[in-house]
Amino acid sequence: MRLSDDFISEVKYRNDLSDIASGYMTLKRRGRNLVGLCPFHGEKTPSFNIYTENGSFYCFGCGVGGDVITFIMKIENLDYIEAVKFLAQRAGMSMPEESFDDSLSKLRTRVFEANREAARFFYAGLYTKEGENALSYLRSRALKESTIRHFGLGFAPDSRFALTNHLKSKGFTDAELIAANLVFKTRSGNGVVDRFYNRVMFPIIDLRGNVIAFGGRIMTDQKPKYLNTSDTVVFSKSNNLFSLNNAKNAGSKSLILCEGYMDVIAINQAGFQNAVATLGTALTTEQAILMKRYCDEVIICYDSDEAGQKATARAIPILRNAGLVVRVLNIPDGKDPDEFIRKNGDNGTAAFKNILENTGNDIDYRLYKLRSNFDMNTTQGKLSYLSEAIKLLSSLDNAVEQDVYASKLAEEVNVEKSSIIEQVKKANKKTYVTRRKKEFSNLQKEISARDDVINPQRKEKIRASTAEENLIAFLVNNPDKLPYIEKRIQAEDFVTDFNRKLYVYFFDRIKNSKEPLTTVSADFTSDEVSKIYKIVTSYHSVSGTMTALDEYIKIIKDESSKPSQEDIKSASDEQMKDFFKNLRESHQ
Ligand SMILES: [Zn+2]
Repeated sequence: MRLSDDFISEVKYRNDLSDIASGYMTLKRRGRNLVGLCPFHGEKTPSFNIYTENGSFYCFGCGVGGDVITFIMKIENLDYIEAVKFLAQRAGMSMPEESFDDSLSKLRTRVFEANREAARFFYAGLYTKEGENALSYLRSRALKESTIRHFGLGFAPDSRFALTNHLKSKGFTDAELIAANLVFKTRSGNGVVDRFYNRVMFPIIDLRGNVIAFGGRIMTDQKPKYLNTSDTVVFSKSNNLFSLNNAKNAGSKSLILCEGYMDVIAINQAGFQNAVATLGTALTTEQAILMKRYCDEVIICYDSDEAGQKATARAIPILRNAGLVVRVLNIPDGKDPDEFIRKNGDNGTAAFKNILENTGNDIDYRLYKLRSNFDMNTTQGKLSYLSEAIKLLSSLDNAVEQDVYASKLAEEVNVEKSSIIEQVKKANKKTYVTRRKKEFSNLQKEISARDDVINPQRKEKIRASTAEENLIAFLVNNPDKLPYIEKRIQAEDFVTDFNRKLYVYFFDRIKNSKEPLTTVSADFTSDEVSKIYKIVTSYHSVSGTMTALDEYIKIIKDESSKPSQEDIKSASDEQMKDFFKNLRESHQ
């Protein structure tokens, strides 16, 4: 069972893609279309296009494309049915009852419910006899009761069955609990056991208030110190951040990026809600892009130890590439933020605010780190520092920043600013252009690798598949020309299987008087949808005349009549002669 075309058309009609997208990104008009910085990959020049005439989008940078439903699926991390529900609700429409397969959506709802119940169970556990140690640990970290409640912190008892038994008594099945990653199968395979035990529990909550995962800190010296939920149907650790639900409402244009849950909680308690942390992994590009949706600036607040400094150096380019301004917090006396706030007692908030306000940006930080490698009391040391610093400045793509730091540098090493600028510009041209070219060609390689997976015959049959794609784009954009096309070419003439499948799909829809693209996002995988929209939107850049159409048809027929490698191997001389004779005739 599936949702009707009429219903989907109505949902799409009432949810204009440009309107929806502008809630997540800034769009500018370019001719009939809108362009903006892509919300699905980090970039500084816009390659994300919205085609207003058919409500579709395509990003030339990362190759993602689709309609308004695809957009919501990707940006809100929802499945197809959930995205349709989301849009229907937004437009004040009610979903038709029981007419669609929503088993995945139902499982996700059950996983949310199980997680919520588990969070309640853990929170209550903190105030039992068994939870005493955990509670006193949290209190030793100076957490107030209100903070513990606000974050829903808890305790998983030292038993392999406590949570399992509790949730089963509430009606959850083994399969649901396994899907939530709250339990796993025993080795013997005939039962399940708790995943988290004897740990302080930190629920991870998404932007809609759902408990999507947990982090658990062990109460003994056992390893691992922190255990997190693995990726599930509702959770992807590379795509979420701890406490983003609080940070989003902080009304600040900056986010403070911390190393751990306890830092985030301590900073929150000190009055700064805009702190987030990664979920037991190093910062990912997806997380940087996610942050860019809610802020313009990220203040990195990692520990002062070597690991923290390495993580800082790694995070800076990831954040900058997502278009964020980066500052790096330097906490005095090598403390971590949680420790720093605690040591300052009642003054914690003011002291933290002070270092926040006096934090330099990432370039200050990087120059400072660089300087510490050289002996600045010798001429040689100064010169070596200068040449490294020029390299650093030339890697920036902001002329104002370059100018500001050239002045600082000139003063520092006592040379003319103009000569620094000159050298930076020289180096800059090279690094900037090569970097951009490399980034772009890497992205293009990724897109074409994805294309090859979707249509594996494409590489070998590039002439045929290009003509097929052009023909499909023509048909979708000119459905009234179906009778003309139908008379001249058959699905069997298509050379590549994927394109044949697309042709048959659109042919059938148009034949049945249906709008060709309405249900593409329901009927194909996410990568296939991107590929389809790549094909369909390319119509704007290829020739759409009837002469061009005839040419596409001719190429496909030419190519499909060519014998395959196997045919050639097994063909007799006589058969080959016939083939070439036919080919000559068809070209006359
Ligand atoms: Zn993109």
